[in-house]
Amino acid sequence: MAEKKLFCSEEKIQEIAAAYGTPFHLYDESGIRKMARRLKAAFAWAPAFMEHYAVKALPNPYILAIMRDEGLGADCSSLAELLLAEAAQMRGAEICFTSNNTPPEEYIKARQLGAIINLDDITHLEFLEQCAGLPDLLSFRYNPGPQRGGGNAIIGAPEEAKYGLTHEQILQAVQQATRKGVKRFGLHTMMVSNELEVDYLIGTATMMFELAVELLQKFDVAVEFINLGGGLGLAYRPEEPDLDLEALSEGIRREYQRLLLPAGLNQVQLSMESGRLMTGPFGLLVTRAIHTKDTYKHYIGVDACMAHLMRPALYDAYHHITVLNKTGAPLDHIYDVVGSLCENNDKFAVNRPLPEIQVGDLLAIHDTGAHGSAMGFNYNGKLRCQELLLRQDGSVQLIRRAETMADLFATLDYPGLPLA
Ligand SMILES: *Cc1c(COP(=O)(O)O)cnc(C)c1O
Repeated sequence: MAEKKLFCSEEKIQEIAAAYGTPFHLYDESGIRKMARRLKAAFAWAPAFMEHYAVKALPNPYILAIMRDEGLGADCSSLAELLLAEAAQMRGAEICFTSNNTPPEEYIKARQLGAIINLDDITHLEFLEQCAGLPDLLSFRYNPGPQRGGGNAIIGAPEEAKYGLTHEQILQAVQQATRKGVKRFGLHTMMVSNELEVDYLIGTATMMFELAVELLQKFDVAVEFINLGGGLGLAYRPEEPDLDLEALSEGIRREYQRLLLPAGLNQVQLSMESGRLMTGPFGLLVTRAIHTKDTYKHYIGVDACMAHLMRPALYDAYHHITVLNKTGAPLDHIYDVVGSLCENNDKFAVNRPLPEIQVGDLLAIHDTGAHGSAMGFNYNGKLRCQELLLRQDGSVQLIRRAETMADLFATLDYPGLPLA
């Protein structure tokens, strides 16, 4: 079976484990910066290309500061994410606010930061007007419904997805907003998640460019930007090919030239809200084997659990595992690698061929830099683990400490519980 490369040496990981203890997520600053530059370079042809990093993928201000330093903005969909973007010194059009079923205080905060607001429903036009006032510039999230096939397990078929406005509603919303004094418009969509197929992603751009031309022809509205959302996929399995970012860019450029330029729309800005692609491959969950168990199957019990990475349990997602210090050893054991939750789906791998594992061995679980720690939770009273950043100079920074029992019990006012 193909191997997946670690972003730093096994010795370095062992050193860090000795210094900080396990488990931890480790993130690679230089990989994140390289990916940010690669995405920007790939889309350098597009007028004022902007990547709003999807904060939810790795909601940590130290990571957002790196994104900002690379000239990226933030995509937020909650109050907490807006506060994180604000703390990372992002403002105005650097932030886009793509929420759904939005509470009023979130719109108020988004307006206060001058974020680009992306409405998820036609009724939110009036809702936003009443709770925070309408901005000059508004964007609408498009859901094409059954007229476009595809979709995947994470988001589902477009007509089953709760997001966005129908085609008819987009047309109405632009007219209503114009009557209410909105002068500038953008369009947004997000059709899929973790998509590796370039042609499907290009097809989404085609659909959006056609919609922009329709708005121009019907209402003389020239949209200022088209935001293609997130959803760019990762090759989680070692044998999968990476997303061909350059081919994606080339295909979108071809459609831009074919559809937008002849219509006179030559200044439409392109933006994206990629999360997974930007940080996913640059995270490892490092955990130690604390038990082996042989019953009807062979189990390796580790000191991390689903509270630190729930993608395998939630989506049956594959995350590659490297057992440290066993490079080249035959993968002649079949294991379930499990956490300690009282849930039988608390497994990082099922029936996985791995080298023989002993108690004390370190396991590195790959591609945990997006939607990993971020999805953490406290079921069974499990505590979220520390997050470490491997700096470009090789130093290691603790960017989030592990939770403690005192954190867990902080909202319980009851005698006898540890508060510190
Ligand atoms: C989750 C999400 C993203 C990021 O998706 P990735 O798959 O991480 O690229 C972007 N925009 C919106 C609105 C989202 O909900």
